[in-house]
Amino acid sequence: MASKKIFISVDMEGITGVIDWAETESDKAEYQYFRKIMTDEVNAAIEGALEKGATAIVVRDAHGNAKNIIPDQLHEKARLLRAWANSPWVMMEGIDESFAAAIFIGYHAKAMTAQGTLSHTMRGDIFDLRVNGISLPELGWNALIANHVNVPVIFVSGDNLICQQARELIPGIETVAVKQGFGEANLNLNPKAAQEKIRQGVASAMEKIDKIAPFRLKAPYTMEIAYKKTRLANQAAWYPGAERKNDYTVSLTCENFFDCMKFLYFVG
Ligand SMILES: [Zn+2]
Repeated sequence: MASKKIFISVDMEGITGVIDWAETESDKAEYQYFRKIMTDEVNAAIEGALEKGATAIVVRDAHGNAKNIIPDQLHEKARLLRAWANSPWVMMEGIDESFAAAIFIGYHAKAMTAQGTLSHTMRGDIFDLRVNGISLPELGWNALIANHVNVPVIFVSGDNLICQQARELIPGIETVAVKQGFGEANLNLNPKAAQEKIRQGVASAMEKIDKIAPFRLKAPYTMEIAYKKTRLANQAAWYPGAERKNDYTVSLTCENFFDCMKFLYFVG
């Protein structure tokens, strides 16, 4: 059997039930409850992948301090990448050409999405991130990183609006919306029901691996970052090669996508 390695990047704002930043912050009491649900949702994805022939699983904890998933409660077939490496790979650290597909769990809509649950882009200071004119949520950016090593993104779970944004960028991607935003509120699935849907969704996605193309844009890549604060544009404009577009927007054009990754790592 050919090897079928699966990479799973896990955020927390799109985990079932999460509605408040405090629920995603490790120094808050309510966080302990939601990190357990986060771990269970990753396990559901792992089960779906294993059912359809995954031969190895790497889980990248990709929220906050990147030490959220509970190691001894994670499926024993998976290896867990914890903490930040301080490299441009960030939420995709650990992926390489050997993986057959990538899966995103607990993802959220991009900054400024009305009705999005805890919607933001990167550290929260970005108003809009565009590559070649296309506005991207973290999912889109991370899918471009996956494409840099030729890996397709086949599945996402999170709020209903990141699912919609994912389908607009990646035709054929399987999505499971575990909650729907109503202003500052959201309507959630039962966590157990969400896990069952994630298991089934990942299993169907595994059957489409060869039909879903990596998310690819054409070089050269022109990145535009619009900030919520002009102070950050002042700073980013000093990056070598960067160009100031207006009071709050900085741009950089790269031939090699890895140069874009380095740029966002320093100015995101
Ligand atoms: Zn997060």
